[in-house]
Amino acid sequence: MAGTFHSPRVCFVTLGCAKNEVDSDRMKRQAAAAGFVPVNDALEADAIVVNTCSFIEAATEESLETIFELSDIERPSGKRVPLVVAGCMPARYGDELEGELTEAAAFVPCSKEDDIATVLSRVLDTDCSARPTDAGEALPSGEDASYFAYVKISDGCDRFCSFCTIPYIRGRYRSFSFDAIAAEVKRAVASGAKEIVLIAQDTGRWGEDFEEPSTLARLVSSLAETFPTTWFRVMYLQPEGVTDELLDAVSSYENVANYFDIPLQHVQPSLLRAMNRTGSRSEFEALLDRIRNRVRGVSLRTTLIAGFPGESEEDFEALCDFVEEAGFDYVGVFPYSREEGTRAARMDGQIDEDVKRERAQVLRDVADAVCTARVAERTGSTMDVLVLGREEDGQLFGRAMCQAPDVDGVVYLEKGEPGQIVTVTIGDTLLYEMEAE
Ligand code: SF4
Repeated sequence: MAGTFHSPRVCFVTLGCAKNEVDSDRMKRQAAAAGFVPVNDALEADAIVVNTCSFIEAATEESLETIFELSDIERPSGKRVPLVVAGCMPARYGDELEGELTEAAAFVPCSKEDDIATVLSRVLDTDCSARPTDAGEALPSGEDASYFAYVKISDGCDRFCSFCTIPYIRGRYRSFSFDAIAAEVKRAVASGAKEIVLIAQDTGRWGEDFEEPSTLARLVSSLAETFPTTWFRVMYLQPEGVTDELLDAVSSYENVANYFDIPLQHVQPSLLRAMNRTGSRSEFEALLDRIRNRVRGVSLRTTLIAGFPGESEEDFEALCDFVEEAGFDYVGVFPYSREEGTRAARMDGQIDEDVKRERAQVLRDVADAVCTARVAERTGSTMDVLVLGREEDGQLFGRAMCQAPDVDGVVYLEKGEPGQIVTVTIGDTLLYEMEAE
């Protein structure tokens, strides 16, 4: 690169879910191994990679806004800093973006993310692979320094729920090998992670696609045994993935969180069928009973959609009633988002945007009343907490096994060092947050 005496610096900006964070980390490591220096500040960068989210329209809009904002950054020479647009947006919109999004110097869809170093070399007109550096040393600290890590165990999805764009964006389901997952866990543990959160679009199907099929239960058991002092947690488990083998594996290991995150989306069979999903309220209630009978002290999370096409007032009331009765610890609620290219977007019975938003808020209020009461019931109980750090005002905080990162609240503590697991008694709660005595 003419006139440049340092290794080119690249800033990765990540939007969307934890799965994207994992992908960005991998791209960062590959770029660093090829000689680029990842930096946290876009203003210091010679190139910027925006790892986009396009799961729903609102996420696409946020991705575009971020791209427009970052495209104004200039080098002191007055030259624009090249932007590489990676991830879900180029995967979803492909050729439509070429010529339209002129702010981008290159597009890297999910399936091509392993080419990131080559693409960066091209847009910066440099050949970094000639002078590799140590990937670990080159990674910036700060946002990457954490006591928990997400590890992806598969990519893609074969379920084709009628409202969802993921199978078109991420492709067919493919499990990552046990060795690849164990290597990722080992790397994360070596860099200080005390908790590993196993994620995928559909974790319960892990291993089904191997020549010699395996199961999530076996994966979790092996990891729990290999890393006995590390906490493990499984997210995004479809109802069909909750096998007795998995329940037994989760309840057998102290270092596996008694925590199930099962997206149900709805309870009315007609709507579930329209979603290309299965189940009914009674089946889901039986599933929750089966889990509670087999896993002591289990915490349960689900996600639900309000305002799916054809959802009547009665359907919605049935959903609210289910949430009131089912006793979930945490519930995520989303208004249905009509996504171009999906079957649900073409269905009759689309619900007015205001009604969808209103129903989502009503459902959230119902869920909050139930779930915060369950949090309050934990007052007086003793639990292990992974200390994560301090808030800006110096307040120490951590997470108990019943709390997944980013979604379920935290525990405030008086004592402990970040990275330690401490045993505390809960003295008080405020909505979703708990306070140790
Ligand atoms: S299981 Fe999840 S990722 Fe797969 S199609 Fe359904 S909603 Fe989308």
